[in-house]
Amino acid sequence: MSGLLSATFSSESAGSESSAAKERIDVAAGADGVPQNESIKAYLTGGGIASLASAAYLIQAGGVPGPNITILEASELLGGSLDGKGSPEHSYVIRGGRMFTEEAYTCMFDLLSFIPSLTTNGMSVKDEIYEFNSRIKSNSLCRLVKDGQKIDASHMGLSNADRMELISIMATSEDTLGAKRIEDIFELSFFKTNFWYMWCTTFAFQPWHSAVELKRYLLRFMQEFPRIHTLAGVRRTPYNQYDSIVLPITEWLVQHGVQFVTGTQVTNLDFNHGQDGKAVERIHTVSHGAEDSIVVRDIDLVFVTNGSMTAASTQGSMTEPARLASKEEDGSWALWETLVQDNPEFGNPAAFNSNVAESKWLSFTVTLTDPVFFNLMEQFTGNLAGTGGLVTIMDSNWLMSVVLPYQPHFLNQPPEMDVFWGYGLFPDIEGNFIKKKMSDCSGEEILNELCRHLRFDFHRPHIIKSANCIPSMMPYITSQFMPRVKGDRPDVRPTGTTNIAFIGQYCELPDDVVFTVEYSVRSAQTAVFSLLGVDKEVSSLYKAEHDLEIVLKSLATLFH
Ligand SMILES: Cc1cc2nc3c(=O)[nH]c(=O)nc-3n(C[C@H](O)[C@H](O)[C@H](O)COP(=O)(O)OP(=O)(O)OC[C@H]3O[C@@H](n4cnc5c(N)ncnc54)[C@H](O)[C@@H]3O)c2cc1C
Repeated sequence: MSGLLSATFSSESAGSESSAAKERIDVAAGADGVPQNESIKAYLTGGGIASLASAAYLIQAGGVPGPNITILEASELLGGSLDGKGSPEHSYVIRGGRMFTEEAYTCMFDLLSFIPSLTTNGMSVKDEIYEFNSRIKSNSLCRLVKDGQKIDASHMGLSNADRMELISIMATSEDTLGAKRIEDIFELSFFKTNFWYMWCTTFAFQPWHSAVELKRYLLRFMQEFPRIHTLAGVRRTPYNQYDSIVLPITEWLVQHGVQFVTGTQVTNLDFNHGQDGKAVERIHTVSHGAEDSIVVRDIDLVFVTNGSMTAASTQGSMTEPARLASKEEDGSWALWETLVQDNPEFGNPAAFNSNVAESKWLSFTVTLTDPVFFNLMEQFTGNLAGTGGLVTIMDSNWLMSVVLPYQPHFLNQPPEMDVFWGYGLFPDIEGNFIKKKMSDCSGEEILNELCRHLRFDFHRPHIIKSANCIPSMMPYITSQFMPRVKGDRPDVRPTGTTNIAFIGQYCELPDDVVFTVEYSVRSAQTAVFSLLGVDKEVSSLYKAEHDLEIVLKSLATLFH
């Protein structure tokens, strides 16, 4: 991929232009109504979905020519956290398996509506995903497991006090909640209810995470309350999200001439202070040890993905645990940390990245050459692969959950192989069967623990022999959920700046929820439409709380 996309990286020399921000907004409408911003150049730091989406909207809504857009990515791969890689020879790895919903993902589906599918001629990626979900419907028959048995998860198990707290947190303002943690609000018993087990494993919340983020999630996904035990509202992609989303977007951008520069880290930005405000005038980079810089004119645009939930992630193997790496080994936080030193209005990365013990967890991807595990799981859950969803083992010390996606999960996956994904929310606790912390376990030990929880004892040796289980350690995976206060995340368009936007998971978007592809795409729309003065509304934010029928149904679920 990086070979296909690698582009010539040349520094430019251009003088700065005054009042250029206004010049940029003063666009001439083209014949088709698309503004022609032909002289603007755009530089995007990071090759995750936030940047890919920004590039797509710069072209589609902003009329910026593709060759004027440069994406600078530190790693050799595009897609960032939205990953999926591997081959039959080397096994497969996804650090995450994503769940979407039709209601809440308005920005993501807007983007995918104009990206052509790579696998079905004449279809958009959005249509392809909708068509897939009309055939392969999610309806979990086994959401929770305890003592090796599936349990009835339709009962939420909430007390009156829990219900009151849930309603109260939804009604309390973000300012009032401030930096409170979820555990500051609920009784300890709340964290033992079916509701919490399903909620926390669906969205990866921990008791010590931000109460504000939980409030946003409760409101944003209220429509999911009545189906939280079946996950019937979840929409999935036909293949892993790299193959189904990142590849087609990248291909579309390549066809439009966008420049991809991988293996290049942005290390700093220089600003000038003009009459309109602060403008980026130079981008400093380092590429394979060589320093370079790009001159940015006032009319040009700079997009920064500040921080990454998969920063410093590492992989183990069937025989080795995944090592816990430090953020210094990965540049994803460094630029933001450097920028805030002189620009306090750009937020506070330390609120998110300074407590690895509370932000890390471990996922694992298992490639199997024998169908026995899938057969046993399908019998046990009552769901064919792709129709169930997360199966959470409530009495697992590691709080393990697994998902069997529809197969094949990779475009290049042969029919005789199966791939599934799982994760544990408590990697620092000893297993129930393997007396080691999950984070110290090899892939084989993690799979062993899983099989024992599921009581697949008879077939366990055979399953393990046919498996390659790759653990992925992600030190910052829930960093975006850490308690924070107003100002810790920069605005997408910080006040007093003219040509820079922050995009991704660590910028502020009112009411929307982080740890979603939606948030990154919303930041992209917000940034592009605002910087270019595009006369287009950001896709509407679905608000279930404004629909009385949904509110009543959801509240009724809490009493079940
Ligand atoms: C395990 C897991 C499960 C998930 N589940 C879901 C789900 O169910 N539903 C859902 O909607 N979302 C889910 N997500 C979240 C979703 O994948 C992310 O929110 C999204 O992919 C983030 O995209 P991004 O572009 O904002 O940031 P990232 O993808 O993190 O991209 C940042 C990129 O910028 C690069 N970079 C950073 N700094 C620099 C620099 N200075 N110079 C050059 N490059 C730089 C990094 O290398 C990285 O590639 C999940 C993610 C994971 C990991």
